[in-house]
Amino acid sequence: MFTCTGYAATSADTRLEPFAFERRDPRADDVEIEIVYCGVCHSDLHQARNEWRNTLYPCVPGHEIVGRVTRVGAEVRDFKPGDLAAVGCMVDSCRTCTACREGLEQYCEPGFTGTYNGPEQGTGANTFGGYSSHIVVDRHFVLHVPEGLDLAGVAPLLCAGVTTWSPHAAGVRAPARRSASSGWAASAIWA
Ligand SMILES: [Zn+2]
Ligand SMILES: [Zn+2]
Repeated sequence: MFTCTGYAATSADTRLEPFAFERRDPRADDVEIEIVYCGVCHSDLHQARNEWRNTLYPCVPGHEIVGRVTRVGAEVRDFKPGDLAAVGCMVDSCRTCTACREGLEQYCEPGFTGTYNGPEQGTGANTFGGYSSHIVVDRHFVLHVPEGLDLAGVAPLLCAGVTTWSPHAAGVRAPARRSASSGWAASAIWA
């Protein structure tokens, strides 16, 4: 385990405050990322304020994460320290249900593990998100980010951006149809 710093809500009606907590050291399939930027999604506000009535406190929000890899587990072949990497809304799933086997982990039948507010597979423990200095995630849920992009602009792609992109991707199969979508996202600097 190692100590991270972040911002946490400790109740529905308190401000986010500096918060120190422990993360696991990378397991064999894990990637450790030093977070450079984390977008601010409105879901973060709903969750911090317990507006969906399921918040586990302390709550460290943030699921639009981009940063640099600092450590990898022994079985990780496709990331190395120094690589840019990103994490979105999920950090794990059951891996065995029909949806997971089809690469649709967001529909995981027993339920996926959110980047924050858990539950961690197997233990049911809480998870802590990207308003923090580092995150450790199984490489299956880590994305590559090309060098040379504006990383502050990359962060919101991990939730708001992909939500906007998905209907367009689906629409590609129906060329006679036109589609449009819009989304709002803001990114916050984490230094
Ligand atoms: Zn979001
Ligand atoms: Zn599943």
